[in-house]
Amino acid sequence: MKNTYDVIIIGAGAAGMTAAIYTSRRMLKTLIISKDLGGQASLATEVENYPGFTETTSGFEIMQKFNQQAKKFGAEFIFDEVKTIQPQNNIFQVETNNQTYKAKTIILAFGLTPRDLNVFGEEKFKGKGVSYCATCDSLFYKNKIVSIIGGGNAALDATLLLSKIAKKVYLIHRRNEFRGDEILIQKIKKQKNVQFILNSIIKEIKGDEFVKSIIINNVDNKSEKEIATNGVFIEVGFEVKANFVKNLVDLDEKNQIITNKHCETSRPGIFAAGDATDIHYKQIIISAGEGAKAGLSAYKYIQAKENLKTSGLDWGEKKLKGKSKK
Ligand code: NAP
Repeated sequence: MKNTYDVIIIGAGAAGMTAAIYTSRRMLKTLIISKDLGGQASLATEVENYPGFTETTSGFEIMQKFNQQAKKFGAEFIFDEVKTIQPQNNIFQVETNNQTYKAKTIILAFGLTPRDLNVFGEEKFKGKGVSYCATCDSLFYKNKIVSIIGGGNAALDATLLLSKIAKKVYLIHRRNEFRGDEILIQKIKKQKNVQFILNSIIKEIKGDEFVKSIIINNVDNKSEKEIATNGVFIEVGFEVKANFVKNLVDLDEKNQIITNKHCETSRPGIFAAGDATDIHYKQIIISAGEGAKAGLSAYKYIQAKENLKTSGLDWGEKKLKGKSKK
């Protein structure tokens, strides 16, 4: 059946694409359904800590390689949004905006979604000066003034990138200490066009058709000021948008999918990996490793269910008795 798969993976980030590499190499018919390619990793302008890439490279480049590798082994990709997943007897029915698919197993690897700041004007100016992706939108701000909100690595990354493009960059953070890496802070301090505005929160984004200014409040002395800016990059972290699976698998208090060390969720046949799960350390390498585990666990689950032999999962692992598949 055309729309029936062994594994449907939701999300094409580091976790999802690694899972696809592993399931496809096990000859499982694999489909990835995703709204984008590369997830959060593809937004990182500089990645220095992915093993094997000795030169600084972009997350986008690394994700392109993951994608090529998954396709090389036969994984199929579809750009679409999953609306619901329904368990039906021994199979899961996956409804997207455009189609219905069926799969023996599901791997949830849909990662994180940028968090809103929830300030006046944010909604109105989305796409008109308010951005959540410096990598995607930075070139619109050549020789302009931009403000970056946040104090984590994403905000620091965005500041560094925009300091090379914009005329002036304000880095606005609600505390006077950054959460991001010191190495990035040191790099930013060398950029003459960057001004730190610390202990400050943004109160309002103003403009006409496009953003023109922001109002910021100093949290110590409560003073308020308006600064002219053409772009506002909101980099205040991410959240897991897991509502579409909340009746299917157990979530924690942060809406993250609860997994065990084999990437199994509370529902047999559904696995999860990467930033959408409760695993610690949201890093590309961790997501890739978890994706590999989820892929192998899905394989093992199918083989056991169909009483087929598993092979080569782990050194010394006791193999299931049965005939080989394919
Ligand atoms: P993050 O590390 O959670 O930082 C979010 C920042 O936004 C924090 O500084 C936080 O302030 C601030 N914030 C949150 N809500 C806010 C609000 N309502 N108003 C004002 N400020 C607010 O998130 P991230 O920077 O997006 O990074 C996410 C993960 O990806 C991290 O693990 C990060 O290391 C990783 N990452 C790594 C790289 C890299 O290695 N180059 C690049 C990008 C991301 P407080 O500090 O006061 O809480």
